[in-house]
Amino acid sequence: TIGMIALDAQGNLSGACTTSGMAFKMHGRVGDSPIIGAGLYVDNEIGAATATGHGEEVIRITGCHLVVELMRQGKSPQKACEEAVMRIVKLTQNRGKNLKDIQVGFIALNKKGEYGSYCIQGGFNYAVHDATGNKLIDAKYFLK
Ligand code: ASP
Repeated sequence: TIGMIALDAQGNLSGACTTSGMAFKMHGRVGDSPIIGAGLYVDNEIGAATATGHGEEVIRITGCHLVVELMRQGKSPQKACEEAVMRIVKLTQNRGKNLKDIQVGFIALNKKGEYGSYCIQGGFNYAVHDATGNKLIDAKYFLK
């Protein structure tokens, strides 16, 4: 998945999400990426979020909408991503599934330009471009 979220010089938020889907997917499978609220969500009053990983898990919690709603309640982008990931962790455990078989990650950006990220395991890199330049950031994760 390539997910992008942006805040422009006028203070407007935007986002995009594209994917080739999961390897060996069933014909006709629809992942989270094309579903607004799941793999991508932008509310110009609050913030934006996008997701990567196992789309079924993201859809189950309408992940990116959840991240934006958590920011609306006052959570930082980092905390909002963490809370959404932990909701998937809890549901996975409740379903008796092995967490090690699941990977989901979120990135989020708010109206102030603050950003954060979190994933279930292993981490991933994401690129940030702002007034200070370009950087590559390691997303924090729940499982080593
Ligand atoms: N989220 C995508 C999907 O489930 C997969 C990916 O992250 O590349 O279709």
